[in-house]
Amino acid sequence: MKIIVCVKQVPNTNQIKINPETGTLIREGVPAILNPDDANALEEALKVKDANPGTTVTVITMGPPQAKEMLQECVAMGADEGILLSDRALGGSDTWATSNAVAAGIRKVGDFDIIFAGRQAIDGDTAQVGPQIAEKLGIPQVTYATEFDIDGDSVVVKRALEDGYERLKVKMPCVITAIKELNTPRYMSIRGILKGAKQEIKVWSADDIGVDRSVVGLKASPTNVFKSFTPKPKGAGLTVEGDTAKEKAANLMADMKARHII
Ligand SMILES: Cc1cc2nc3c(=O)[nH]c(=O)nc-3n(C[C@H](O)[C@H](O)[C@H](O)COP(=O)(O)OP(=O)(O)OC[C@H]3O[C@@H](n4cnc5c(N)ncnc54)[C@H](O)[C@@H]3O)c2cc1C
Repeated sequence: MKIIVCVKQVPNTNQIKINPETGTLIREGVPAILNPDDANALEEALKVKDANPGTTVTVITMGPPQAKEMLQECVAMGADEGILLSDRALGGSDTWATSNAVAAGIRKVGDFDIIFAGRQAIDGDTAQVGPQIAEKLGIPQVTYATEFDIDGDSVVVKRALEDGYERLKVKMPCVITAIKELNTPRYMSIRGILKGAKQEIKVWSADDIGVDRSVVGLKASPTNVFKSFTPKPKGAGLTVEGDTAKEKAANLMADMKARHII
């Protein structure tokens, strides 16, 4: 079985800062991590590999040259190879252009049975890229996967909905997007870390993947960011004193009267 996992290197959002003048993300000095949902996507692929000897797991990302490190970490977790799509022509892509590039990269990889992606990236947060890749490759998709099994030439997926679950059976090849409830990602092993450090990561340009340059990059992207800002912090709250609910209510009324709110 051949599995492809789409991964994205994202800034560690706990430490994100916005430049107040330009409104853009300050990436300098912010550590980059494997997008959390993508770790779940990779873990599920590795579980299939563990259960089905001969399975190969390829991780693919579109990003800047430093995304190589993340791919090496994925190899250290157990992936067989990493592919980095990196080219100035791909820079500034929005989700539509990103999925055009990643789908072109996947076409170049060739044969595959399952594509795993994360549900959502913690920086872009759109949850659009996985489903768009499925559409562009013309294959079925199941998003928000919480359980995954293989059944012959199909996969059975339990999918989270807002108010419940549904179980779907779809034929391979297909795209599955993972959420954190799907599994617990494994740690890198010492042997894996050594393998990852030595492993050559393939770097493919826009020409290598044969993508039409009019559908990738900033100019081709239909989305425009007009403004980006951090909401102003809210003022400190007020704790209403009192031993009983009645006393607290009376104190609150008195306070609101004093402020001429009522
Ligand atoms: C005008 C414009 C310019 C932009 N320029 C840049 C830029 O220069 N650099 C930048 O980092 N972002 C840029 N972005 C943000 C970019 O659109 C998104 O980060 C990117 O398209 C992925 O969307 P997302 O983060 O919402 O991913 P989601 O759709 O939330 O991701 C879902 C899943 O898709 C897969 N996935 C997402 N992105 C990739 C990827 N790159 N490679 C492989 N798999 C992936 C992962 O499995 C991920 O979990 C730009 C956005 C706009 C609107």
